[in-house]
Amino acid sequence: MNPEDSVKNLKGVGEKKAELLAKLGIFSVKDLLSYYPRTYQDRGNCKRICDLAPGEEALCAGTVMQMKLTGKNFRKPTLRLLVNDGSGNMEVIFFNGKWLQKSFNIGDICTFFGKAEFSYGKITMLHPEYSKGAAEDEGILPIYPLTSGLRQSDLRKWIKSVLAECAGDTEFFPREIIEKYRLCPRDYALANIHFPKDRQKYKEAAYRLAFEELFLLQTGLLFLKNGARTEKGIAFKKEPVEEEFIEGLPFTPTGAQKRAIEEIARDMEKELAMNRLLQGDVGSGKTVVAQTALFKAVKNGYQGVLMAPTEILAKQHFEDFRKAFEPYGMKIGFLGGNMPAKQKKETLEDLESGEIDIAIGTHALIQDSVSFKNLGLVITDEQHRFGVEQRKKLGSKGEAPDMLVMTATPIPRTLAVILYGDLDISIIDELPPGRQAVKTTALKAKERKKAYDFMAGEIQKGRQCYIVAPLIEDSESIEASSAQTLFEDLKEEYPDIRFALLHGDMKQAQKDEIMEDFFTGSTDVLVSTVVIEVGINVPNATLMIIENSERFGLAQLHQLRGRVGRGKHQSYCMLILGNEGEIAEKRAEIMCASTDGFYISEEDLKLRGPGEIFGTRQHGLPDLKVADLAKHTKLLAVTQGAVKELLEEDRTLSKPENAGIKTRIAGLFGKGLIL
Ligand code: ADP
Ligand code: MG
Repeated sequence: MNPEDSVKNLKGVGEKKAELLAKLGIFSVKDLLSYYPRTYQDRGNCKRICDLAPGEEALCAGTVMQMKLTGKNFRKPTLRLLVNDGSGNMEVIFFNGKWLQKSFNIGDICTFFGKAEFSYGKITMLHPEYSKGAAEDEGILPIYPLTSGLRQSDLRKWIKSVLAECAGDTEFFPREIIEKYRLCPRDYALANIHFPKDRQKYKEAAYRLAFEELFLLQTGLLFLKNGARTEKGIAFKKEPVEEEFIEGLPFTPTGAQKRAIEEIARDMEKELAMNRLLQGDVGSGKTVVAQTALFKAVKNGYQGVLMAPTEILAKQHFEDFRKAFEPYGMKIGFLGGNMPAKQKKETLEDLESGEIDIAIGTHALIQDSVSFKNLGLVITDEQHRFGVEQRKKLGSKGEAPDMLVMTATPIPRTLAVILYGDLDISIIDELPPGRQAVKTTALKAKERKKAYDFMAGEIQKGRQCYIVAPLIEDSESIEASSAQTLFEDLKEEYPDIRFALLHGDMKQAQKDEIMEDFFTGSTDVLVSTVVIEVGINVPNATLMIIENSERFGLAQLHQLRGRVGRGKHQSYCMLILGNEGEIAEKRAEIMCASTDGFYISEEDLKLRGPGEIFGTRQHGLPDLKVADLAKHTKLLAVTQGAVKELLEEDRTLSKPENAGIKTRIAGLFGKGLIL
């Protein structure tokens, strides 16, 4: 049997079953082999009824002592069996179980597997699996995620037969790796991940499979990176022309900023195209790093572009860049969603003629109508909002321009290496001096008045304030504050304060106007939905109130908090917990304890697991089924080493013994991988 064969070749799998399997993502024999169990049941040990614990899943065998049909509904009576095993009694219950009556006889010995519950002093099992006769030792059984129409027994049967058919044929690691890292053979690993003989063998199997997942993931990513690396790009002049710009800044860059600027400049000077990620916490000063790089590009006679995820953010960058670059006679252009046709036409012409040196905008920049004279540097801000495709499309407007991706979502270093494996990474892990930590407190819903009185105090001192609510309008189905209601209530309660409402459903022009008023200080409080999440910079704002903070994730809360603490005044963040779930409280606790984005991201990883973090990146990275990036940090390091060794020996994976690895990677990553 070939691993690529369709499951239809299996006995008992026809069109119908094949369709059901397809729903589970299983098409080939290979898919079936790597359809690992969700969990296991230990059917090796029969438990005495008197030893059962509430909620425990267990196997019990006993004699059927009584059998009766009960319940008010004649057509759907409940079948109740009284089972005794000498140690005690247990009631086995099947709702609507009349049809099962003939399966049992008084005096029969039967075996049941199910969850033991204690109710009204009785031990019960509801809808257990059952079989005639005394318990057989079935060992540890796999439990697979199912879809309706398929049974555990189906999958077990098919997987068993596939395991037997493919034995001797599944290994793809060269012997050297297996020996050096003491891995069990792949056949053994597959057999024991599906049908573990015992705990120890399961562990060996899981280790081997986790090793292989991390190994293949990293090797594949390195290939992606190498593929990008070999792309010939622009070699900017080695002269440090950017120094002029740095000297003109109103402040001295931090050590971390200088390092990032250096790394980027060196990359730009190389002939290979730059593919770099700039990671830095909110407020760490990524913008000047980007500006310095753009300055270098323009000084070399090229154009640059910066794409931001929201109109508001793009506008703000545009204003900042104008101020920073005009003294050097460089021209900045803006391209957004709904511009007057005439203005847009002019901008497009100026981009094409090279009149504009640096273009700032939203994804309006990737439209087909946009073309540049000689684009040399492409920067995307807050990249987690953009797909890889959009990034590439922007890049295709020049001839292999250098690419810089900026993100304000700190992620743990180990994860960054994997997540952004196709990029080189610069990290700004230091905040500009004199920044005061934002003081954070968490309040219960009934204490929210405190937050708003505090707000009134800040406004009196001449400061400004943000309030974020999870919804735009009140909703009947969700109990959370809406920005709309909050805005109206607050206006009434604090008539002297100038409130403004901002949400994502508003027209662009209206949003711009509201933001402008907040920038210039003609409004005091901005009540909004999460549209303000990214990038906005109003240094006079010192208070961030987050309503129903339990509805936001840690990364989002951290981003939101980053809107304050940007000026010289002490700033505050108040989290109002609408309800008190355990995770929500834990998050609030973490937020109150730290303002370090990297720390918060590590805690976030522990709380959420890496699945969701992975999910934010539309990369088409292969799934990890056994390996867990949050837990297997040691294994991650081990495999990193193994991958490095392998590629040092055989950079292109052309040695015959590495052919299996190469095929695997190609299968996992599909297109986009240059092998
Ligand atoms: P982010 O990394 O979140 O994009 P910004 O680039 O917007 O951060 O910078 C936040 C603020 O810090 C800006 O007002 C910027 O002018 C200021 N800033 C950046 N670097 C420094 C520095 N080295 N010293 C003082 N202020 C700085
Ligand atoms: Mg920024």
